[in-house]
Amino acid sequence: MARLTALLFSLVLVSGLTISQVVVAKTQLTEQFFQGALIVGKTAPENKVHLNGKAIKVSASGDYVLGFSRDEKNNSVLTIVSPKGEVEKRTLKPLKREYNIQRIEGIAKKIMNPNKKANIRVGEDNKKIKAARTIDSDLTAFAQGFIAPIEGTITGVYGSQRFYNGVPKWPHYGLDYAGNTGDPVKAPADGVVLMFVPDMFYSGGTMIIDHGHGVSSTFLHLSDAYVKVGDKVSKGQVVAAVGASGRATGPHLDWRINWFNVRLDPALVLKLKPLE
Ligand SMILES: [Zn+2]
Repeated sequence: MARLTALLFSLVLVSGLTISQVVVAKTQLTEQFFQGALIVGKTAPENKVHLNGKAIKVSASGDYVLGFSRDEKNNSVLTIVSPKGEVEKRTLKPLKREYNIQRIEGIAKKIMNPNKKANIRVGEDNKKIKAARTIDSDLTAFAQGFIAPIEGTITGVYGSQRFYNGVPKWPHYGLDYAGNTGDPVKAPADGVVLMFVPDMFYSGGTMIIDHGHGVSSTFLHLSDAYVKVGDKVSKGQVVAAVGASGRATGPHLDWRINWFNVRLDPALVLKLKPLE
C-alpha cells in the first residue's frame, strides 16, 4: 500500500510538473503574429522572459510585450524560465502582409531633396523622438487595450509606400484620420506624456505618450496640446487638438504606435483584447 501511495504521489508530481510547464507562458496576441503587430503576453510575475536571448521586462502582474516590424521576416524565440528552472520556448513566426504600394513618376527634384538647413532640423527632431522611444517604464497600460484617438474617417494606413521616379520613399507608419483643426484628440490608453514639441519640421506639433514597457503613442501635425511633459493621462482623456502643422497637406491626425523604435500598426493594436 505504501508503494502504491508513493507511486500515485510521484504520478501526481509528474503530471503537476507537466501542467505547470504548459502554463508557464500564456502568450496571447491580437489574432495572429502579423508583421506590425503588438504582442502582449502574461506569465507568472516571478518568471523571466527572454526574446531572442535578450531579457524583456515582466510587470508585477506578469505582463510583458513585444512587437514585429513592418517587414519582419525572421522567427522570434520567446523563452520563459520559472524560478525552479522550468523552461518553455515558443517560436513566433511573423505572418507576411501585403502593403499598398504606389509608383509615381516625374516628380520635381526640389521636392525630393529638402535643403541643408531643413536636414539639420530633421536630424534634431529625430533625435528627440528616438530618445523618447527608448524609455522602458514600469507602466502596464499597454495590457489594458486601446481606443481610437478620434472618430474621423481613416485616410491613410500603416505600411503603405510610394516610389517617386522609382526611388522608394519612407513607408507610412501611422493611421491617418480625417479631422478639422481643433478637433479633440484622446489618449488611446493610460500613460505619461514623454514629449511635446509644437513645431517639428515634418510632423509639426508632435506628442509622445508612454504606455509602458517601451510601448508609446505618437501624434503628428497637432495644433495644440492640453497636457505637458510628465503629466499622467487616462484612456479617453483629451490631450491635444488636430491640426495641419509641419508638412501636412491639410488637417488630419496621424497616430503612430511604437514598441521602442519598432514601428507597429495602430489598426492591429486597436484589435488587441486584454488578457484575463
Ligand atoms: Zn500620416
